[in-house]
Amino acid sequence: MSGDTKNPYDNACGQIKICAAQMDMEPGLYEILISHKMIHTVSLPIKKDNGEIEVFTGYRVQHNDARGPYKGGIRYHHEVSMDEVKSLAMGMTWKCALIDIPYGGAKGGIVCNTKEMSIGEKEHITRRYTTMISQFIGPYRDVPAPDMYTDAQTMAWMMDTYSVIQGYSVPEVVTGKPIGLGGSEGRAEATGRGAAIILRETAKILGMKLKGSTVVIQGFGNVGVNAAMTLYSMGCRIIGVSDSRGAIFDPDGLNPSKVFAHKLETGSVEGFQGSEKLTNEELLELECDFLVPAALGHQITMKNAGNIKAKVIVEGANNPTTTEADEILDNNGILLVPDILANSGGVMVSYLEWVQNINRQHWSLTEVNQQLEAKLVSSFRNVWDAKEEKGLNMRDTSLAIGVSRVAEAIKMLGLFP
Ligand code: NAD
Repeated sequence: MSGDTKNPYDNACGQIKICAAQMDMEPGLYEILISHKMIHTVSLPIKKDNGEIEVFTGYRVQHNDARGPYKGGIRYHHEVSMDEVKSLAMGMTWKCALIDIPYGGAKGGIVCNTKEMSIGEKEHITRRYTTMISQFIGPYRDVPAPDMYTDAQTMAWMMDTYSVIQGYSVPEVVTGKPIGLGGSEGRAEATGRGAAIILRETAKILGMKLKGSTVVIQGFGNVGVNAAMTLYSMGCRIIGVSDSRGAIFDPDGLNPSKVFAHKLETGSVEGFQGSEKLTNEELLELECDFLVPAALGHQITMKNAGNIKAKVIVEGANNPTTTEADEILDNNGILLVPDILANSGGVMVSYLEWVQNINRQHWSLTEVNQQLEAKLVSSFRNVWDAKEEKGLNMRDTSLAIGVSRVAEAIKMLGLFP
């Protein structure tokens, strides 16, 4: 949908440039912050079920580890590109610093369409990819997690492949695993649940009533479904949702559990009983209190930003809004809660999973959710107070906090040699 000129990496650098200027940062430090420490491109030859060989391309981009091991998801999508992975890796660095967990930032991806692959082909490509990047990842080096079109099963294959190479079981090499393999209670729901907690805090601080407020969610996968279910349980009216095939609308409110059951049965939210069919473009432009983009990047651009009628946007997805669109939304008085705050619940519970794994512990769902809630509420208030003090928008404030923590860490470490 992007009609904007910049590629994702230039977009990310542009945001940091604004931030660096506000912080009066020395040019050399800015250069370090926009550079990626290591970039790995791997080719992945796979024998498909029909006997043919196809060679896929995979990436693992490690942006910065000044504050701790690299951390970031793995995405399987036919539109994955190096620039996209570079920008997502940078975003992980700022996100981990913003919520103050001891990780750096990384991201990975494979250019493939999982909808055209069998389960066996997905396993082969995951195991080959893990083997190719195995010397660059590890519990104290770089800890992958799921992202778009990857899930707990993908993480189980990654853990197993890495463990076979090491010669012993290493559950802490990835997070987002199945619970039976050391996964954390609450991890699967954490990103969507976290986005709902951030939305609730936003409503509270703005004096908006949460009960009965109208919510539109783009994307009905891990993040979208869990955000919808949590918000529904908080009393919100979910009036529209979408997936890659189409969008549905019901002004009286959709029951997300029933929509999810329909999607499991039919493969899409489309055709849900009693709902009106919309295009994905129309869904984003619905009149509502809260819009939660929870699918791909670059969905709100200079082309459609002027038509957005939501009062507040809570970015469940990574990079759903371009810099040009940010400016339009700002000018139109739409409050935007940025991705690095709004979807940080996922990496927060990934961190809790890693801590449990390295200590050989398993915590209850209550314990995990309490820690998630406490961390997100304090991070939200920290951003809000700084925004009020600095007079910036929420994206620039969140970036300023994250970037300044990473810059401080780099200064304390010094340069070697
Ligand atoms: P997912 O694969 O589980 O779900 C993606 C959903 O988006 C699917 O329902 C798909 O049909 C839908 N979709 C794809 N293209 C679309 C389009 N053009 N219009 C509308 N819907 C479309 O992925 P996910 O894990 O839910 O990730 C969604 C977003 O959240 C991504 O941007 C991801 O980077 C971000 N994110 C995910 C996590 C996590 O823990 N999974 C954490 C932080 C951020």
